[in-house]
Amino acid sequence: MSKTFQYDVVIAGGGTAGVAAAVGAARAKAKTLLIERNPYLGGEATHSGVSAFCGFYTCGGNPVKAVAGVGEELLKEMESLNSESVDYIISATGNKNINFHPEYLKCAMDNVLEKEGVTCFLHTRIIGAKTKDGEIKSIQCVDDEGIFQVEARVFVDATGDANLAHLSGADTLWGDEEGNVQAATLPFRLSGVDISCDLTPEAVEQAVIKAKKAGIQHLTREKGFILKREGSNQVAVLLPSVMPTGLSSQELTKMELDTRRQVLYYVEAFRRYLKGMEQCELTMIGPSIGFRETRRIKGKSMIKAEDVLNRKKCEDGVARGGWKPEIHKDTDKMATYMDVKEGSWFDIPLGALQSDNIGNLYAAGRMISADEAAFAAVRVMGTCFATGHSAGVAAAVQAEYGEADIRKIRAELDRQGALL
Ligand SMILES: Cc1cc2nc3c(=O)[nH]c(=O)nc-3n(C[C@H](O)[C@H](O)[C@H](O)COP(=O)(O)OP(=O)(O)OC[C@H]3O[C@@H](n4cnc5c(N)ncnc54)[C@H](O)[C@@H]3O)c2cc1C
Repeated sequence: MSKTFQYDVVIAGGGTAGVAAAVGAARAKAKTLLIERNPYLGGEATHSGVSAFCGFYTCGGNPVKAVAGVGEELLKEMESLNSESVDYIISATGNKNINFHPEYLKCAMDNVLEKEGVTCFLHTRIIGAKTKDGEIKSIQCVDDEGIFQVEARVFVDATGDANLAHLSGADTLWGDEEGNVQAATLPFRLSGVDISCDLTPEAVEQAVIKAKKAGIQHLTREKGFILKREGSNQVAVLLPSVMPTGLSSQELTKMELDTRRQVLYYVEAFRRYLKGMEQCELTMIGPSIGFRETRRIKGKSMIKAEDVLNRKKCEDGVARGGWKPEIHKDTDKMATYMDVKEGSWFDIPLGALQSDNIGNLYAAGRMISADEAAFAAVRVMGTCFATGHSAGVAAAVQAEYGEADIRKIRAELDRQGALL
């Protein structure tokens, strides 16, 4: 192996959680490396075109801010690049969400990492981990010149699919008790849309039912979201869906081909049956299918459904979860929701970010330790920013002091503007 790099903290994966983790760690004075296999940052927010942030505010009426810190700074950075790239809206389901332009998010993330002095390796895939005495000592990575090694004191897995946890032998979970996960969806973008027309889930449903009756095949979801931004004739459509069975290349290929084929039939259905879409053009598929749920870590503690539903607070909280369980268990139906008290949040404890069997491994984002229903609330991107921020700070504190002192972690998060 030709090269070895050394850092205090390494962040695996540059989605919403990974970027927040990298900034949090660097601001806490750790020498930080972020590794991302794509050519750009953002994860599902950019690579899968999921262009609405949920979870910055508590869901339902009386929205209260649940997330600030790095997540909020990224919103400001996007706005400074283009004031129309961020749009605060009340969604079709009555939640205060933030629609955003994914291309500006890519650039905002580059800028914020650069300002904080985070080293970032794009086009780099983590392919292995060496562990000793219950800790990761180094990871193996590959780029187009070959395989190299990175050593660090502490690692944050923000890969969404718990890929570093899996490679290092950390305990992981997959789905519910029967091993079922939430449906995956391949978003696509259309331009030339008259957004003044009714594009609500109900209008979509009527159009898709008509299209099915007329014999248009390969349409899964009848009811689903079309995301629009004020002043733009481009929308993101979240409909073509499939049930994930695993993460092997064979399974991933099958899912990409299946959902990509669905896209073309949805475009035809919309052109024919959805008012405002008569002249629409397909501008982008994906690029990648978006996974709501795959592998997650088994943590020192686990967030439970009752914690989310009762809006439980705890002394070792390191982030706020503002969302409610939003469960997509079918490929042909909209999500089901479990109701929570409006205007309130639950605390996410440090233990839910700490691997139960690898001493220097943290999780961030949609792969933190939670039961099936709680998972359905913590996976939204506002919360991913918050758990990423806290995992990065916790990793930096552990790298500096040799242990994850909760008082130091909370004090540093507070200093960095996170909401606790
Ligand atoms: C269809 C769909 C609709 C959704 N709708 C919403 C919504 O409206 N609002 C909302 O807030 N949330 C929504 N979500 C959820 C949200 O998008 C995700 O849960 C969130 O983006 C996950 O962020 P993350 O940073 O944890 O992981 P990801 O965004 O998945 O980022 C992980 C990153 O790690 C990288 N990576 C993985 N493995 C490796 C490796 N071995 N080496 C190097 N890099 C690696 C990946 O390339 C990726 O960039 C939706 C999800 C889907 C799929």
